[in-house]
Amino acid sequence: MAANTGMPVTRRAMVVPDLDELSSVLQTGLKICFETAEVNVVDCPDLTQQPFHLAAPGLCGSPRLTDVGGVPYLVPLAQKEKKYNLDTVAEQVDLPGAFILGAGAGPHAAVGTNNEMIANIRTRSADSEGDNQTRLSSILPEDGSYCLKCSPTRDFNLLANLMASEGKPGKVLEVKCQTRRSPDNFVSLMRHFIHKHYGKDKFIGLGGVFVIEEGKAKIHIMPDFSKKPLDTEEDVNKWLKFFEFKAPLICCSVFVTHDPGMDLRLEHTHCFSHHGQGGHYHHDVTPKTVSYRGYFVPAEWMYRIDPPTITHNIGRD
Ligand SMILES: [Zn+2]
Repeated sequence: MAANTGMPVTRRAMVVPDLDELSSVLQTGLKICFETAEVNVVDCPDLTQQPFHLAAPGLCGSPRLTDVGGVPYLVPLAQKEKKYNLDTVAEQVDLPGAFILGAGAGPHAAVGTNNEMIANIRTRSADSEGDNQTRLSSILPEDGSYCLKCSPTRDFNLLANLMASEGKPGKVLEVKCQTRRSPDNFVSLMRHFIHKHYGKDKFIGLGGVFVIEEGKAKIHIMPDFSKKPLDTEEDVNKWLKFFEFKAPLICCSVFVTHDPGMDLRLEHTHCFSHHGQGGHYHHDVTPKTVSYRGYFVPAEWMYRIDPPTITHNIGRD
């Protein structure tokens, strides 16, 4: 089934709800949490255009999620030798040449330090080299400032939560929300309402992109690897570098309703911008002015690549 990398790969079918039904579930829930919330089934706008600048025009065609590696490879101490490749991941999820987006830990060898990966790539296929628009966000060890740049490689390390698809146009969910009333983040809210409606017997996951059009968001960037073990959530939060970055932020996001026993991270969102800011999205910090616009599709499969054999739940926010 999977590419011959020697890495364990398992997969599980996901429930794909009807898009119109999913749209109304989200609309009903998000209306409670935002002053305005509008969810519709639309033709995916061309995502290669502004403000998204993704590596493929759409999210459609055999959408599938993958959870690669995991936080246990990062904490308590990083296993730096854990290395993956986006072209290989496309083969591992049985979709060579896929368009892949999502969140992960970037290639430390290429950057010289640990970093955040915002995956956005048309992977290599038999007749094309593809197009790598992946960004890396890092902390410069010299002065602690941040840096966002295009990735010079298709490698990454430690962990990632990704969606692969054929990158085609087609029907998607459009989610538009303004003025937040609830304390949670945008992605957690969507996840919550889908899980609540469909229940724990239906394993559902979505991937896509949203833009924070107005406001600011709390973002973290991982600095270089910690030399002392990060044993608790508090240790991890002291080690991470937190920022408030400003809109427009383009967020590549993957989430699942729950973990059916595959040792999954439930949600993971990384953002980039065209003004040098990017990293791991926590939530907006401007509930009164915030404006979200996103496009999502439900996935057909979850692939688990190289799960840690010793696992824990620290640092999965
Ligand atoms: Zn992250």
